Amino acid sequence: MKSSLQQYYSSIREKNARLSEQRKQECEKKEPRLASLRTERGQVVISLAAGKMTEAQAQSRIAAISAERKTLLIGMGYPADYLDPIYTCSKCRDTGEVGELLKKPCSCQLKLQQKELADGARLNWKETFASFRPEIYPTDAQRSFGVRCKKYCEKYVASLPSPEKPNLLFLGQSGLGKSYFANAIGAAAVEHGIETRKVTAYRFVQDALSGIGNNSEPLAVYTNVTLLILDDLGTEPMIPNVTAESLFRILNERAAMNLPTIVVSNLNKDELVSEYGERIASRLFDGARTAIVRFTGDNLRTRQS
Ligand SMILES: [Zn+2]
Repeated sequence: MKSSLQQYYSSIREKNARLSEQRKQECEKKEPRLASLRTERGQVVISLAAGKMTEAQAQSRIAAISAERKTLLIGMGYPADYLDPIYTCSKCRDTGEVGELLKKPCSCQLKLQQKELADGARLNWKETFASFRPEIYPTDAQRSFGVRCKKYCEKYVASLPSPEKPNLLFLGQSGLGKSYFANAIGAAAVEHGIETRKVTAYRFVQDALSGIGNNSEPLAVYTNVTLLILDDLGTEPMIPNVTAESLFRILNERAAMNLPTIVVSNLNKDELVSEYGERIASRLFDGARTAIVRFTGDNLRTRQS
């Protein structure tokens, strides 16, 4: 378990222990018999451990103590389990793990991890495979492309984190659904528990600039994340020694680690070559590692509006 999660669970346990202690003090102040019952319960456990009591005797005494405690609590207007241990998740008793010998993450931990992934991905959660509507396409040809593209993208997600061709390059003019599909892949990847990060090329360059001269590594997250979605390549400022260099470094390092990368651009191949140079273009268009999807047809946004 990650240490941030361990901290989370230990803080939950502490909070619940404090609440338990408060309840105990509150009730025992009102009804001192509850305090004697608690002391007696402790003595039974000690006697059992010392062999002065059989297990059956101890069990029957503890059952009697619990029953009396419940009766007292109800008489005082509290729920019968008011003094039982408090757990936010009763399945794992706030440890985050279930199972006797083989520890497995509890569903509450998986939910937290999911949330952490979702928060870190910077996706648009409205653009998913589930929200895909074929009827927005103006022509049969475009609709059939959209449906095939969705199937293809879903297959890609299913093959993550190691697709046969790890990279996708979505090309075509704006308003044809490129970013939508890239985003939908990201959302489905997060659902599969895959660490994902979407960034626009503009934001990427801003981050690259922010790291200059202060020894920070703002691009490390883009190098190391399992699935990177680089959106809108070609809309960022071309800053000498920054834009192309940072882009090449990320693409190169991710290729070396065989990490999947999705690049989305409105530019065509010639424009990408002239903008970024052969070195980056050959990475982007590396046919052995990249599936290129070309989006064509009429703009879906202008049609809708
Ligand atoms: Zn749990």
